Amino acid sequence: MPEIVDFKCLRCGHEFTGPYDKRMPIERSCPKCNSNSVRKIKKPIKK
Ligand SMILES: [Zn+2]
Repeated sequence: MPEIVDFKCLRCGHEFTGPYDKRMPIERSCPKCNSNSVRKIKKPIKK
């Protein structure tokens, strides 16, 4: 089951969330600038 995690674009700094499957990492691109320099980030869930 993929989990919903946070991603951050290293190019424009845009942060977004999406499903991530550890067993099958897929190439991601930033929805804002279309760069593929996207990293999964860990941060606590906001309340
Ligand atoms: Zn971007």
